[in-house]
Amino acid sequence: MIAMALSCNPEILIADEPTSALDVTIQAQILDLMKDLTNRLGTAVILITHSLGVVAGTCDTICVMYAGRFVERGPTDLIFENPMHPYTQGLIKSVPRLDKKGHGRLTSIRGQPPNVIDLPDCCPFYPRCDKAMDICKRKYPAWKTFDNGRTVGCWLYSEEK
Ligand code: SF4
Repeated sequence: MIAMALSCNPEILIADEPTSALDVTIQAQILDLMKDLTNRLGTAVILITHSLGVVAGTCDTICVMYAGRFVERGPTDLIFENPMHPYTQGLIKSVPRLDKKGHGRLTSIRGQPPNVIDLPDCCPFYPRCDKAMDICKRKYPAWKTFDNGRTVGCWLYSEEK
């Protein structure tokens, strides 16, 4: 299927969970193949995945989505070094790390995602957020863009709060 998609010389390839349910060896082969082909053809790839390991090893830029909307955007290395949105922080803390000492419990994000056909007008993450403030329950977060190319949709970074 990847070969069929690339045979049209697309400018953009949208790969939605291309490595789901594959074992890690085949996953690495598929990602290498896509990287090689897209480098040679100059195709940009939008990779949709739940695997932070795949994102870390493949992507230049990350857009983190929650409840169908972007919550944080920026260069991959900066987002993994210093996640700013509480949802991104929770995602990264929930991944097992071989380079961390100790055998503590993995962090999880409490609660459940909202119903996306009935989203609130406020921050949809606030029932699950440890940093929620009063404004989070009243208004959808304003976007803040930083000089290093990062954009975050969270009241923690807004002067308006
Ligand atoms: S806007 Fe408020 S509730 Fe939403 S992620 Fe930021 S701090 Fe948490």
